[in-house]
Amino acid sequence: MTSSHCLLSLLLASSLGSHLVAQTAPEALTSTAERLRTEASRTNGAYADLAWLCDRIGHRLSGSPQLDQAIEWAQGRLKAAGLVNVHTEAAMVPHWVRGYEAAELLLPTHHRVNILGLGGSVGTPKGGLTADVVVVGSFDELEKLGPALKGKIVLFDVPYAGYGHTVVYRHDGAARAAKFGAVAALVRSVGPVSLDTPHTGAMDYDPGFPKIPTASVTLEASTQMRRMQERGERIQLRLEMGAQTLPDAPSANVVAEIRGTEKPEEVVLLSGHLDSWDVGQGAQDDGTGTVVAMEAARLIQSLGLKPRRTIRVVLWTNEENGLRGGKAYRDAHRAEFKNIIAALETDSGSEPIKSFQLELRKASPQAKADALASMKKLGEGLACFKVTFQLGHSGADVSPMVAEGVPGIGVEHAGTHYFDIHHTQADTFDKVVKEDLAFSSAALASFAYALAQSDVRFQ
Ligand SMILES: [Zn+2]
Repeated sequence: MTSSHCLLSLLLASSLGSHLVAQTAPEALTSTAERLRTEASRTNGAYADLAWLCDRIGHRLSGSPQLDQAIEWAQGRLKAAGLVNVHTEAAMVPHWVRGYEAAELLLPTHHRVNILGLGGSVGTPKGGLTADVVVVGSFDELEKLGPALKGKIVLFDVPYAGYGHTVVYRHDGAARAAKFGAVAALVRSVGPVSLDTPHTGAMDYDPGFPKIPTASVTLEASTQMRRMQERGERIQLRLEMGAQTLPDAPSANVVAEIRGTEKPEEVVLLSGHLDSWDVGQGAQDDGTGTVVAMEAARLIQSLGLKPRRTIRVVLWTNEENGLRGGKAYRDAHRAEFKNIIAALETDSGSEPIKSFQLELRKASPQAKADALASMKKLGEGLACFKVTFQLGHSGADVSPMVAEGVPGIGVEHAGTHYFDIHHTQADTFDKVVKEDLAFSSAALASFAYALAQSDVRFQ
């Protein structure tokens, strides 16, 4: 969209009498989004920050020295941008380490199988374990086989039907297989396509059953073993994993602010998570959310805008395997929940923002509808970004406080290729488009500024 179109839509929004208009002169509003967009494209600060985070720090699993480095680095960047009250807020985080891992098919042919242990898995006995593989396509098939799975490696070969739908096999597969005496569980990677890329991710055990080692295999290997089983062939596999869980480690959320000029106690919270899995560079999950949240605040600051409400950046620790950052924040900030106007989270990749999804857990249907209407009204000033405003899901890290009534807003990016590389070695910087980050940073900055200038309340 051209800049004149952008100006026009802002003028229209102003004339419609939105919350924005009540507090800010229309002529200032008409230029603000455009100025933020121009500045974002001129400086490309989010892109430069992401390159540094990916290339010089790399992946950042909870408990790793790289996450500590990233926490230091982010504070430095936020201070350099002129934000105030830059500090960390402590949280103890799980400390899982992958160790050496390998798998090889022994029967009916002999070759190496590419795996990634799932976060939280136990290791195999030293030297590995060897067992026959049974392929199942669902929990129903697993239950039907029942006791026949004793001593076997269960492979869940479940085709991708959307992340939310299929991820349950990664998360619960080991616990469900252990119930029948399986010695290990493999899961087909949760992703739509593959270049022999296994996808890791979190899993959980059931305290009622033994902890068995569990890993993802690629779409290629998973479907190959299914074909072998369908031909009636015996499948035997050797699995070795050195994974272990160490004592919890100290970590922290990073916090920084632009203090509000009129209502500093009222907070618009922008966030992404600094931690990542221990593969690739954590570029899209969630390096992007981190740098876009930082850049949105930096853009507002660098243009000398003075929001009426406080804009607070929070970079979470431990989203991937524990949510301890989000839980620690909830516990430490309960007293100000009524003044958190909205908690925004960006954690869906690097493609352009396409929607803002408002989540109100404790509101009545009518209150939700009213809140959505006021968010849409506020968003009329963002028409040039072509984003939509909906009721939906906010984000994992803000979910502990959203569960207690804080309005959450999920910043949803177009996810065309996000799950192709999610939690893999391929989640690297080269796949991120510079213009997309500038667009998203400006859109987030514009919406945050609109919220901070308004008197809107969603709860
Ligand atoms: Zn994430």
